[in-house]
Amino acid sequence: MNKRTFIKLSSVMLAAPVVSPLFAWMSGDKMSGDKLKNWAGNLEYSTESLYSANSLEQARDFVKKQSRLKVLGTRHCFNNIADSTQDFLSLKPMDKVVALNPEARTVTVEAGMSYGQLCPYLDSKGFALHNLASLPHISIAGACSTGTHGSGVKNGNLATAVSGLEMVTAAGDVVVLSREKDGGTFRGAVVGLGALGVITKITLNIQPTFMMRQYVYESLPLSQLKDHFEEIEASAYSVSLFTDWQKQRVNEVWIKSRVEAGKAFDATPEFFGAKLATRNLHPIADLSAENCTEQLGVPGAWYERLPHFRMGFTPSAGKELQSEYFVPRQHAMEAILAVEQLRDQVSPHLMISEIRAIAADDLWMSPCYKQPCVTIHFTWKQDWPAVSKLLPVIETELAPFKARPHWGKLFTTSPAQLKSIYEKLPEFIQLSKEYDPRGKFHNEFLNTNIFS
Ligand SMILES: Cc1cc2nc3c(=O)[nH]c(=O)nc-3n(C[C@H](O)[C@H](O)[C@H](O)COP(=O)(O)OP(=O)(O)OC[C@H]3O[C@@H](n4cnc5c(N)ncnc54)[C@H](O)[C@@H]3O)c2cc1C
Repeated sequence: MNKRTFIKLSSVMLAAPVVSPLFAWMSGDKMSGDKLKNWAGNLEYSTESLYSANSLEQARDFVKKQSRLKVLGTRHCFNNIADSTQDFLSLKPMDKVVALNPEARTVTVEAGMSYGQLCPYLDSKGFALHNLASLPHISIAGACSTGTHGSGVKNGNLATAVSGLEMVTAAGDVVVLSREKDGGTFRGAVVGLGALGVITKITLNIQPTFMMRQYVYESLPLSQLKDHFEEIEASAYSVSLFTDWQKQRVNEVWIKSRVEAGKAFDATPEFFGAKLATRNLHPIADLSAENCTEQLGVPGAWYERLPHFRMGFTPSAGKELQSEYFVPRQHAMEAILAVEQLRDQVSPHLMISEIRAIAADDLWMSPCYKQPCVTIHFTWKQDWPAVSKLLPVIETELAPFKARPHWGKLFTTSPAQLKSIYEKLPEFIQLSKEYDPRGKFHNEFLNTNIFS
């Protein structure tokens, strides 16, 4: 069945505290006096000119008229990948489910929709996504365009769920791409970095809904991680390790297990020397766990356990910076130990680090292209002068492993280095020329890192 359902999602959800101010300026074209900034507030965008499209036709008309523009998603990137000096296009009002196809196990949504909007709908229809990021607040199009990921040795990043795209090219033409029919073009377009066009619809693979339990263990000795890294990462459906790099230990191990006969995680009081927590925890120990998804093994829907943070609450710390590096999984422990050596330099500026595993994929600009990865993430205090001096130090340590930086977070990796670690970059540039010959969707980030 391929029924067009057009579901308008609950206004209650949109009125949640975190979402409403964002929605106010996104739909009402910004509150007066407010500078347009990214979510963390570390980046003031270079223009305040923001147009909201309500339909494919409005998006096409706008694209045709502009000489340069960028699509703005939910503004959760920490660098200037989304920035524009001329105009922004927001698809925030385009947030409906277009079609749920139970037979094909796909859902097609308008590109302004966030995971926080889609997931409860999918669950109510008996379906689930394979994975989610640490927060549900982000737009599906923005997340997939930047290779956003969750965790799990067998779980590809969020973009690997994409099986189809509808996109408006620089000329205002509508292109429809599918994994089945469009081979290389499709694999090049999914993690598109906002460089190819305006994604207006996305089709995602879905699966039957499932329940999960989340357990947290405290104080995993680094020696145990060294000896059992693979085992620990593979111990459940999704595993996250949080560390401040102090005291030769991982502060918290978050284990997200599917409630399935014969496969459930056995939550023994000790896990490789770490102790089972007896209260809900925030990854940053000083912050309230109220913002976090339920732990202590309480069963819950997949979308209320896979993210660390709850919809309607501020994820992470808020005033922060983030960086993250993808390292081929076979070098995981070497890379982790290389960063651990930098603990005295890193710690004064760090809120918390997170280590996760991601499966390999075949999407050209994905940091996991043809390599299973481990990611080493840093949530920094919001002190860019200090962080910008530290990043090259970390990047030098990780360079022997050909570490790839997260496209949506802060990095100082040189364009030359990026070229050497993205083998499909020439094809990606070629593809972008087909859809956008005059660089209508280019900005400083793309000109520096991709097209220089
Ligand atoms: C608190 C917090 C936690 C995070 N946790 C994770 C995590 O667990 N894992 C992870 O990998 N990342 C994480 N991130 C990073 C971030 O969520 C992603 O990189 C993602 O891009 C954010 O999506 P967005 O819509 O907010 O992007 P934006 O910053 O709005 O845009 C990102 C890019 O996507 C493009 N884009 C957006 N919509 C479209 C469209 N319709 N058509 C074409 N291009 C488009 C933009 O032009 C831009 O180039 C986190 C960020 C924050 C703030």
